[in-house]
Amino acid sequence: MLDAANVMESDRSHLFPCAQCGDALVAPEWSEHVSERCVRHLWSCEACGYEFETAIYLRAEA
Ligand SMILES: [Zn+2]
Repeated sequence: MLDAANVMESDRSHLFPCAQCGDALVAPEWSEHVSERCVRHLWSCEACGYEFETAIYLRAEA
């Protein structure tokens, strides 16, 4: 009874919609490891040129 929509895999690229035009962004322009468990992605929209950042927090495996 898994809800697939709620499953997040931390080390995979996700599809992000552009906040400006809604176009789907497949891969980040670049990624930066801020810390052991935090990765920042810079996204650049090819359709409209909009750029934004996201921060992914990796879950620690106990
Ligand atoms: Zn866009």
